[in-house]
Amino acid sequence: MAQAFKYCPLCATSLVVKLFDGNEKNACPACDFVQWDNPLPVVAIIVPHVSGGVVLIKRGMPPRLGFWALPAGFVDHGEGPFQAAVREAKEECGLDIKPVRLYGVYTPQGSNQILMVYLAKPVTQLPVPGSDALEAQVFPLDQLPADIAFPLHEEALHKWIKNCRRSQKRGRSAGRGKARAKR
Ligand SMILES: [Zn+2]
Repeated sequence: MAQAFKYCPLCATSLVVKLFDGNEKNACPACDFVQWDNPLPVVAIIVPHVSGGVVLIKRGMPPRLGFWALPAGFVDHGEGPFQAAVREAKEECGLDIKPVRLYGVYTPQGSNQILMVYLAKPVTQLPVPGSDALEAQVFPLDQLPADIAFPLHEEALHKWIKNCRRSQKRGRSAGRGKARAKR
């Protein structure tokens, strides 16, 4: 649970615990306020580079300051996750990206968040660290940094890399097939 409110943020009455469908929530006895504590949506983006690598940023903000991570951030008020992915990529690494699809949805343990990972079209530009990032860099897929900030970023990255290798292999064997067929 996020930090529990003691007082109603609307009318400053002391909150009490009420049951909603069997779940305890802090609620206001004087007005309609309930601290629902719903999970916060977060987006992260896998941004491939045309050179064959992937873009990572070195976090300039806690949590996990100084660790490498996918460009990521909270969805803003009034924004969809897709727009959030585009905005975060611009803010954190100066890249204009086109998300091609939602790559995975995760629920990080102990954080009350929902993490949506998007896959972007490969970029040609090089990343430039924004105000939230200490560094932004393209890493070859077989030389990722060991200190990746979040296990689920790492999980999504490794799943994507595995899929890339699989389709490369398929591409190669399909190519061989064609060569054979020609003979
Ligand atoms: Zn109230």
